[in-house]
Amino acid sequence: MSLKENLDSVLSSLPKTVKLIAVSKTKPVSDILAVYDAGQLDFGENRVQEMVEKYEQLPKDIKWHMIGHLQKNKVKYIAGFVELIHSVDSEDLLKEIDKQAANNNRIINCLLQIRIAEEETKFGLEIEKADKFMKNSINFPNVKICGLMGMATFTDDTQQIRNEFSMLKTLYDKLLVEYPDFKFLSLGMSGDYQTAIEEGSNMVRIGSLIFGSRN
Ligand SMILES: *Cc1c(COP(=O)(O)O)cnc(C)c1O
Repeated sequence: MSLKENLDSVLSSLPKTVKLIAVSKTKPVSDILAVYDAGQLDFGENRVQEMVEKYEQLPKDIKWHMIGHLQKNKVKYIAGFVELIHSVDSEDLLKEIDKQAANNNRIINCLLQIRIAEEETKFGLEIEKADKFMKNSINFPNVKICGLMGMATFTDDTQQIRNEFSMLKTLYDKLLVEYPDFKFLSLGMSGDYQTAIEEGSNMVRIGSLIFGSRN
C-alpha cells in the first residue's frame, strides 16, 4: 500500500470530530511530503532536533506537534513555530515555554501530559497534581493549556487500556467546566486508538499505521 492509501484508510476509520496527528518520527522528509501531498497537515515528532530539521526542509503550512518528552533547554528551538506541545508535565517546563513564547511574540498551545500508565518509565504529571498545575498556569499568559494528553500502559490487556483512558476522560470532563480553553483530549496510537476514541479521545497520534513500522 502507498502512504496515501495508508492515510486514507486511517482517516476513513476516524469519526469527523477526531483530529489526526500523523507521527513522522524517524521517517524521512520524502515520506512526510507524500502524506502532506495527500492532504495531511498535522505531524508529530518526539525529538527537538529532528523536528527543527524537518521544519526547515518542508512546506511552511505544516503544523508541528511535539509529542515527546521536552527538555527545558530545548524549548527555544521550537518556540517560534510549534503548533501544539502535547508533553507538558511540569511547572518548570511550562514556565520556560511561557518565556520562549513571549520572546517570539506568540502564545503557545499546550496539553498537560498526565501519567495514566502503570509503567514507571512513562512521563507525565500525576493525576492528583493536575488541579494545582492548572490553577498555577494562570501565571503564564503566553501559554494556553488546551487539554490533556496520555499514554496507556504497553499491554495486551484491552480492559486495562480502556480503564486508563477512561480515567483521563473523567479528569478532562472535570477540568473542562473550569477551563474554557480545553478542547483536545490527545489519546490513542496505532495499536489502541479505537479504544481511545470509544473512551472519548478527540485527537489521535498515529505513526506506524501510516508510515509503516520503525526500526
Ligand atoms: C511514537 C509515538 C506515537 C505513535 O506510535 P505508533 O504506535 O507508531 O502509532 C504516539 N504518541 C507518542 C507520544 C509517540 O511517541
